[in-house]
Amino acid sequence: MDHHRSHALFARARELMPGGVNSPVRAFKSVGGEPFFAQRADGPFLFDVDGNRYIDFVGSWGPMVAGHNHPAVLEAVVRTARDGLSFGVPNPLEVTMAETIARLVPSCQMLRMVNSGTEATLSAIRLARGATGRARIVKFEGCYHGHGDSFLVKAGSGALTFGVPTSPGVPKALADLTLTLPYNDFDAATALFDECGGDIAGLIIEPVVGNANCLPPRPGFLQHLRELCTRHGTILIFDEVMTGFRVALGGAQARYGVTPDLTTFGKVIGGGMPVGAYGGRRDLMEQVSPSGPIYQAGTLSGNPVAMAAGLAMLELVQAPGFHNALEATSNALCDGLEAAARDAGVPFTSNRVGGMFGLFFSAEKVDTYAQAMACDVAAFNRFFHAMLERGVYLAPSAYEAGFVSSAHGDTEIATTIAAAREAFRVAKG
Ligand code: PLP
Repeated sequence: MDHHRSHALFARARELMPGGVNSPVRAFKSVGGEPFFAQRADGPFLFDVDGNRYIDFVGSWGPMVAGHNHPAVLEAVVRTARDGLSFGVPNPLEVTMAETIARLVPSCQMLRMVNSGTEATLSAIRLARGATGRARIVKFEGCYHGHGDSFLVKAGSGALTFGVPTSPGVPKALADLTLTLPYNDFDAATALFDECGGDIAGLIIEPVVGNANCLPPRPGFLQHLRELCTRHGTILIFDEVMTGFRVALGGAQARYGVTPDLTTFGKVIGGGMPVGAYGGRRDLMEQVSPSGPIYQAGTLSGNPVAMAAGLAMLELVQAPGFHNALEATSNALCDGLEAAARDAGVPFTSNRVGGMFGLFFSAEKVDTYAQAMACDVAAFNRFFHAMLERGVYLAPSAYEAGFVSSAHGDTEIATTIAAAREAFRVAKG
């Protein structure tokens, strides 16, 4: 593949942007080599500036659950943009968005739109602290909740990829207030709450982890956390930035039948535009300004073009059978990859939940952070590059989930598995 245009752009980018990127994982540091620069995207495909085409299993890190550049989303954006890009006063689409999310995710009795997943999670934590009058929060090893200070404590995703457990710049005094538990460990959670449950304002979790590869919850784990939080007066926050409208229409809370107090969203609800939201119990949300004293605001929050894109995307995911089809695609992909790995004699396993999947160079099934970290990263990196060379773009890190969309058809899955048959031989080293 020719990459000379991407190479030249990356050289220019590195002069002026840290690492040449605006979000760390895009720099390919974990897998080595250089990123390609996208020219355009369509359905299941990304096209780079050198004219190469890739089957895309990243989907802009989650928003593109119906594929890139879906005509309905594009049409909504163009139509809405003609009327103005931002008003600074309320607009009707914000109301429709709140009504739509509240209908699809009934635990969200009230909502507030923000501009990113990071804003959503840090606002939810402030609300939990303000509402309980407590300072401590609990998160889980390997879960990523954006780059808010309170979360960059043994964080996953970019921070994990670079092997930095905490980021410089996060005050120790603040980090001390974040307690970190192992995901899927019932006893550790019980022990922590026995010790200091009365001090914990909120517990935040990715109900299916998508930032330490893809780890589904063990049966009963989310229920266990619900019970602990209820017993100790702690606000349970599901970070559904990744899982929302992807692992089921009603998100992970619908799939696993557990009702959180607050939920954070991003990605799908913006259809590719910069958006986030948080919502939950009415008595909590009413404490947010201006109806309550807990301050949170945003110049561009509820932006009409972003709302229009998100509403169009949410319309698409409500099509009958949408999530069953998404899950069937994930299963076809992962089953095919497992068979190809077996034939190549490569220890390999996968997880799939709805439209999310995880690939592990491991002989054992993986559902803990420690197991995910123990996988053969060098083999993944060789596999990643071999797939890229064959026109398949996987997440450029062994610690990230992958995503399928409704635009990935049988042909794309078959092409991907054929590429993998060769790439597993390369991965073997
Ligand atoms: N929460 C989760 C579960 C995420 O996966 C991410 C980003 O990937 C975030 C929060 C942060 O969202 P954003 O990058 O929009 O700030």
